[in-house]
Amino acid sequence: MRRKTKLIHGGITGDEKTGAVSMPIFQVSTYKQEGVGKHSGYEYSRTGNPTRHALEELIKEIEGGHAGFAFGSGMAAITAVLMTFNQGDHIIFTDDVYGGTYRLVSKVLNRFGLDATFVDTSDMEKIEAAVTDKTKAIYIETPTNPLLKITDLEKVSNFAKEKGFTFIVDNTFSTPYWQNPIDYGADIVLHSATKYLGGHSDVVAGLVVVNSAQLAEDVHFVLNSSGGVLGPHDSWLLMRGIKTLGIRMEEIESNTKAFVDFLSELPEVTNIYYPGLENHKGHDVHHKQARGYGGMISFDVGSGERADQVLRNVRYFTLAESLGAVESLISVPAMMTHASIPKERRGELGITDGLIRVSIGLEDIEDLKEDFLDALRK
Ligand SMILES: *Cc1c(COP(=O)(O)O)cnc(C)c1O
Repeated sequence: MRRKTKLIHGGITGDEKTGAVSMPIFQVSTYKQEGVGKHSGYEYSRTGNPTRHALEELIKEIEGGHAGFAFGSGMAAITAVLMTFNQGDHIIFTDDVYGGTYRLVSKVLNRFGLDATFVDTSDMEKIEAAVTDKTKAIYIETPTNPLLKITDLEKVSNFAKEKGFTFIVDNTFSTPYWQNPIDYGADIVLHSATKYLGGHSDVVAGLVVVNSAQLAEDVHFVLNSSGGVLGPHDSWLLMRGIKTLGIRMEEIESNTKAFVDFLSELPEVTNIYYPGLENHKGHDVHHKQARGYGGMISFDVGSGERADQVLRNVRYFTLAESLGAVESLISVPAMMTHASIPKERRGELGITDGLIRVSIGLEDIEDLKEDFLDALRK
């Protein structure tokens, strides 16, 4: 099955009993048992629910893994994956990891003795230098948020294998339509499905795909023990979103390329971060491991005041956190998504006050260009 077909016919489609073409929403918490311990595969919906299971089978197939799991948010998915580790374990993270992940690791999980080092994972030497005798995993994002830094999946995976570390990839930005980290040796892939997978700014969800039976058992044990599962209705919404992932990503790709060309001509705009630009650091690596560049662009408009002016005056770009929707979204990372990172550290990372991040949607590209230009030159 090719990729676009798999998005529609993968996983468990429809219902055999009734012929329903769409997977029914099993709005149910518990299941009648024939005898004690004799059941049809479902006992209680925290442990497993047929609608959620259909989604889990679908994401497993489109990422090419061994098993999939659906959680109530991306952060719940990340929490569950990190809770498979033990007190005293050490994990190496990408330095400009999603702000919520940074907060979880540095303000919550540290209290339970999970140790972390944040390094620029686009640089293998920095990863090697961060290894301790307690290191158990490497956790990366590629491209990153918001500077679109690229990490070489194959190189990091080979290093992780050699050392016996688990290699975890947050694949939210690229989506499984453009990038499948398991093909390059990742052990665990996770998603904030709130973004491109759902795609319509109407559901908060997280997905995990693992590449082995042992990891599947470990993640399911935490899922069932801690209970941050996705409900049946949201599972169904996500499956509906995933059916159009291919066509949305293709259209977003061409809109984004056109918007980057447009930005490149504006004297007010500097430092365009987009992996599709040939002078973008990591462009070649990204090109090798992904089939598309995605819909995220960051760029500098010079100052926090000008960024604020743009954000107050755009009409078609919605000022909002989040990304990956049919609507184009715009934000200032320093004030919004990355506000939980101390200013000093933001400076080190290159997240300036004038840095704008856009997530290109499905509007007519001419409207987006006009809108942005009007707001910039108001
Ligand atoms: C949004 C996001 C998350 C967190 O997901 P939620 O669904 O908001 O909990 C994690 N990683 C990345 C890259 C994200 O963009």
